[in-house]
Order: sequence, then C-alpha cells, then structure tokens
Amino acid sequence: MKRIYLCLAHMSGQEQQYIQEAFDTNWVVPLGPNVNAFEQELKAYTGNEEVEVVALSSGTAAIHLALVALGIQPGDEVMVQSFTFCASANPVKYVGAVPVLVDSEPDTWNMDPVLLDEAIADRIRVTGRKPKAIIPVALYGMPPKMDEIMAVAGKYGIPVVEDTAEALGSYYKGRFCGTLGRFGVMSFNGNKMITTSGGGALICPDLETKQRVMYFATQARQPFPYYQHTEIGYNYRMSNICAGIGRGQMTVVREHVEHHRHVARLYQQLLAEVPGVKVHWAPSEEFDSNYWLTTVVLDADVKVREVVDNHRPHTDCEPNPNVMALAAGLDKAGIESRPLWKPLHLHPVFADSPRYVNGISEALFQVGLCLPSGPMVSDEEVRYIIDTIKELIIRQ
Ligand SMILES: *Cc1c(COP(=O)(O)O)cnc(C)c1O
Repeated sequence: MKRIYLCLAHMSGQEQQYIQEAFDTNWVVPLGPNVNAFEQELKAYTGNEEVEVVALSSGTAAIHLALVALGIQPGDEVMVQSFTFCASANPVKYVGAVPVLVDSEPDTWNMDPVLLDEAIADRIRVTGRKPKAIIPVALYGMPPKMDEIMAVAGKYGIPVVEDTAEALGSYYKGRFCGTLGRFGVMSFNGNKMITTSGGGALICPDLETKQRVMYFATQARQPFPYYQHTEIGYNYRMSNICAGIGRGQMTVVREHVEHHRHVARLYQQLLAEVPGVKVHWAPSEEFDSNYWLTTVVLDADVKVREVVDNHRPHTDCEPNPNVMALAAGLDKAGIESRPLWKPLHLHPVFADSPRYVNGISEALFQVGLCLPSGPMVSDEEVRYIIDTIKELIIRQ
C-alpha cells in the first residue's frame, strides 16, 4: 500500500537543468548565478519592490541573522509566539537573549495581540527594560492578526520579525506575509511549500540591510584584500547548487500554493458532513492562508474506536487519547498525520522562559491534528483519508 505523507517534496523537472549549469560553469560554491537569480525570483514573488531577499542555509539561520542584524544582546528579551516549532525561539537563545513566550488567540491560532500588549507592559514593569523584538508566527500558513500586532509593536517601538517559514504564498489584507514587519523568514526545508533540499531566506526592508545580513552570513569578512574581522560572523549563505533547486521550484511555486489551498477546501467541504471534526479555517478573507498543512480539531464528544484506555503518556502534556487513537488508526491505514506543535512553554528546554499563557494553545494541542496536504496528495487520497476518519470515529 502506498503511504500518504503530510508534505512531500515535489520536483518540477527544471531543477536538474539549473544544477547542471552550476556544474558546467564550476559554480559549486555558496554563492553564484543561481543564488543571485533565486533571490531576485523570490523578491519578485513577494510583489514588493522595496524589500530585498537574502538566500541562506536555513530558515533558522534567517531568524538568527534577523536578531543579529537587530543587535539583540545577551540578556535582552524577545517576545515569541509560544504555539510554534522550536526554530522560532532557538535563535533567541543563540544570541544569549531570553525568549518571552506569548500565547495565541483562537481565530488564527497565532500570537494574541492583546496578550502581547499586556506582556510587554509587564516585562517593562518587571525588568525596567523594553523587549528588543517580537516574533509572531504564521502557523500552518495562517497569517496572524498583523495590524493589531504591528500596532502594539509601534506603540512600544519594537521591531517585528515575522516567522513566515510555513507561510510562503500567504497574504494578509492583500500583502505578502513576511513583508509586513521589519524582517520576514522563508524556509525551503524538505517538507515546506517549496524545497531546496534544505535552505531559507531572510526578507529585508532595504538594500543596506540586505548587505549587512550578507556580511554576517559570510563570516563578517571586511572588504580588504586579506582577511580582516571586527565582528563575529556566520557561515550561513545558500549554496549555488541548492539555489538551482530553488529556481526549479520557483517555476511551480504558484501551482504548489494553489494545490495546498485546493486540498484544504476539499477537506473542509467533505468534513462538513462529519460532525465533530472541524477544519481550522481563516477567520475572514483578509487572512489568505497558503494552507501549508490542513489542520483539524476534534470536538469533545467525538470518540475514536480502539482508544487505548491505559495508554501511558510519554510526557505530562500530550494530545488527548482520542487524537492519539485517531493518529494511530490513520497510520495503520497508511496515512501520516501529526499532532499540532506542542506550545513551547510546555517544553522542558524553555522551562525558565517567562510566559504569558491564556490556555488557548494548550487546549488546541490537546485536540488538533495535521493531515496530509502536500503537492503529491490527490483528491482521491483526500476522500480516502476522510473515509478512514469516518470509520475510525464514533459519536456519543
Ligand atoms: C520550518 C520552520 C522554521 C525553520 O526553518 P528551517 O529551514 O527548517 O530551519 C522556523 N519556524 C517555523 C515555524 C517552521 O515551521
């Protein structure tokens, strides 16, 4: 039986041509024509003339360099959405700063702007200093309430780094996600909207900032005929080979995004007839998600067959037994699924991070599941997944 995966990479067929060119011209290095062209193609894709894009070795590196470019120092505090993948917050630790974790609102599942405002006021009261950056995340592609977040950021004069690693091709009020804050993040890891086999990019507000980020991405080498350094840099540039894959992927990025949206609509349409299983959907048309992964939540009255009653949890907080049983049942039927991101404030590694928690992300983590959504998922497979879900659940 063929297994259906969450989000498999899908090649356009053009990738090898760009890689071949790189080999033929001996540009097998972390710079070159593919890197420059890929950056220009990404910039064009944002539809924003002003921004500049720097191609890097990962999305995590992009967040790290945004913090470096903002001059975040050891001991500084950075407000980070708690409901996310660890890579949103790890770079805060890399620069020796303190992630302050902020919970979500229920409409987009992203950073709650009201809680953010309260949290910043409280940090200023407790520490006597302003946090140095705000990192909201567009979880599963869904844009956060950016107007409200930017208003809070503006009120305190704190720069925003949009973690849009999952949101390539999402728009908020018609604007490309990742171009609304000071910096925006792209990821081209194997399971993201497009892949370079591993890679990322930072969207910068202008050319000067791009040059500064490139400087830090290339070991902070000074412009002398010999090696001269006054600052600590990083080796974060994208290779010309990876960028060749990226250029091939850019020929199909619009189709990929459309396919993810199509799959999400199909899930929503078909699951409308399955009471108690709800697709997470944009609160309005202003939130134009790429639906990188379709996510569903189970109502409390949905019971799943074959729940293991004496199942021993791995940790003291995990999805409820019905969600675990549904995932196990799907797995048996050859369907990959995954619980939602476990909120960062529940991870031991962030145990000493200050947190502002309202219960929303913990509740979602208990009841949510990600379903296969990638470019390889066909309509027939979505129907099969939904039929399997129907077979697995019983209502009480
Ligand atoms: C994937 C991801 C990243 C990191 O991107 P990499 O390219 O894997 O380093 C950061 N934040 C979020 C929310 C992600 O999903």
